[in-house]
Amino acid sequence: MVRYSVILLLLITATTLSVPESTREGFSLANTNRLKLLQARLLQTIRPENCRREHRIFTEQPHMAGSVRNYELAQHIAKQWKDYGLEDVELIEHPVYLPWPIRYEATLVGANEKLSLKEEPIPQDKDSYNKDVGIPYCAYSADVDVTAPVVYVNSGNPEDYDLLARQGVDVRGKIALARYSVPYSYRGFKALTAQRRGVAALLLYSDPADDGYKKGDVYPWGPWGPESHLQRGGIVYDFNLPGDPRTPGWASVPGGRFLPAESAVSMPTVAAAPMSYKDARRILEKMTGPAVPAEWQGGLPFTYRLGPTSDELHLVIQNDKKVRSIWNVVGRLRGAERPNEWVILGNHRDAWVFGGVDPSSGSATLMETARAFGELKRSGWKPRRTLVFASWDAEEFTLTGSTEWGELEAERLQAGALAYLNVDSSASGNSFTAAAVPALANFLREVAREVPDPSGGSIYDAWLRQTKDAKEPTVTTRLGSGSDYTVFLNFLGLPVADLTFDGPYGVYHSIYDSFTWVDRVGDPGYYYHAAMGRYWAVAALQLSECDYVPLDYAAYAQEVQSYLDETETVARRLGVEVDFSQVREAAKVWEKNGRTALEVARKAVAAGDMARVERVHRGLMKVERALLDPEGLVGRPWFKHLIYAPRPTYKPLVLPALTEAIEARDQSRAKLEVERLTRALKRAASAIEPGI
Ligand SMILES: [Zn+2]
Repeated sequence: MVRYSVILLLLITATTLSVPESTREGFSLANTNRLKLLQARLLQTIRPENCRREHRIFTEQPHMAGSVRNYELAQHIAKQWKDYGLEDVELIEHPVYLPWPIRYEATLVGANEKLSLKEEPIPQDKDSYNKDVGIPYCAYSADVDVTAPVVYVNSGNPEDYDLLARQGVDVRGKIALARYSVPYSYRGFKALTAQRRGVAALLLYSDPADDGYKKGDVYPWGPWGPESHLQRGGIVYDFNLPGDPRTPGWASVPGGRFLPAESAVSMPTVAAAPMSYKDARRILEKMTGPAVPAEWQGGLPFTYRLGPTSDELHLVIQNDKKVRSIWNVVGRLRGAERPNEWVILGNHRDAWVFGGVDPSSGSATLMETARAFGELKRSGWKPRRTLVFASWDAEEFTLTGSTEWGELEAERLQAGALAYLNVDSSASGNSFTAAAVPALANFLREVAREVPDPSGGSIYDAWLRQTKDAKEPTVTTRLGSGSDYTVFLNFLGLPVADLTFDGPYGVYHSIYDSFTWVDRVGDPGYYYHAAMGRYWAVAALQLSECDYVPLDYAAYAQEVQSYLDETETVARRLGVEVDFSQVREAAKVWEKNGRTALEVARKAVAAGDMARVERVHRGLMKVERALLDPEGLVGRPWFKHLIYAPRPTYKPLVLPALTEAIEARDQSRAKLEVERLTRALKRAASAIEPGI
């Protein structure tokens, strides 16, 4: 009896503490309490040592897209997921244009010196001795066999070529040597610029000032790139069109319809290849001409010169032109109440070599997250909505696997997907970073409060500590491109988030991005792999279990109003007259409706008016879709989103259609674009209306 009273008292206390204010956005009080238990179970189930074990499997061998090993890993995933209890697990085949390298040679003709173009093994990392690492290359490079002098073009941006022109250095017909710039700028933009400037070929090298010894200790002693490391990667123009270049806007399926790859807007006509500073140094030492400006000087111990070289370089780059099969793996936990509403968790599987961080850290985390949900299912739980787990293939080529699947499943995704949660690399360090559409920003911050950080406290606390002068942690809401969320946002109009734990990481796309790099330098103990799994799981769980989707369109509309301010300033500076009054008005109505929607939903959920909650939920789900325009952007119709698109550098471009018209000083197009944007914002505002 006494014990009973104590329990009763505890129950009463617990109930009193759980005042409605403490419920999560999107949840009724009863549902919040149910959620807490589920969350606690997921947090407990996800273990660092399991992440490490899976990580070793994924990084054991090179697993480039199209390789046998990458197919075996797809089978491994499917088998594990079935064992975990996932449903409808399938390997989905897409035949896609996926060239591999045949030849890459570079010889200094006068000196008769053949450059090694090879990454040296290091005793501390057994995988660096692997003989099957392949010929380093830039995917979708054109072929070339040329003998020409080399010029140094710094980062290979347009302003760099302008400076060379002013200095009287003619780059046409010569080989351009560009350094990879850090902060990251997409190498495809360097290729596009080189192509426009008429160079014979482009060499992309890793300067020690960007990701080597000038930054700090090099691997195996630290995170930075050693002497012979080089950065592979695609140079495809997927800022025009991602996915198989032969199927713009539809899926590549066996026996399907294909256009010729050569004519695609995403195909470069210039040849490019990666190089280490060990090899590039031999070329840089032979540069003649004036010394470079101070900003162009790299980390090697001599004065850099503009060029050309005193010696000619004989460069041969040759790739096959093959179509290969790639394999996405998709598995589900079917929703018990709303099977057609999907929450998608995705990571790519293919790596340039071993993929220690990129992407196998994410793959290991995906496996552990799927396992934890499987455990939860074993205990009798079923998600309300369907959880979709996806392992994409060929992301490194041109976001290929996710794009093809998004195109294949367009109808079902647009009808019922709540959000796509992407984790490419899960941990190269300990700094939590989240990028997302503004509607998800607050949700992502709230999730961070509920997940412990390995350093103590919550991820929210650790995240806030990195955010100087901010009251709350920063979610990057300006989305460019560079990972698998692109199709979901820009083509399908779904809310997306992209998550990672960041850190110093100089071995990107080299053979040193390996199991040992992660185990020894990036995330010893795999605590951040597990933390990402827990975060990802909690975010997915909340979206699958909510009463209404917690998308904040007042925040989104406010953000868009700040983009309008910026764009108007640019228009004024460039002398383009655009009337912003209508579009501002539309944004304000959208903001008001977004705010009202959440207020109405909160009240309705507290009052138990679930029919009303449902109406709001249905409306909120449609808003991101409303921001698409079927015509797409000028010159790249695949990109349909009118708020975000990538620039060729992958940097975010906000209000892309309008901004591009203004930047082109095209008055009449700017007028049409501001009207098109106004219509989109009106659609967004009215999508919410039936619920309020
Ligand atoms: Zn990646």
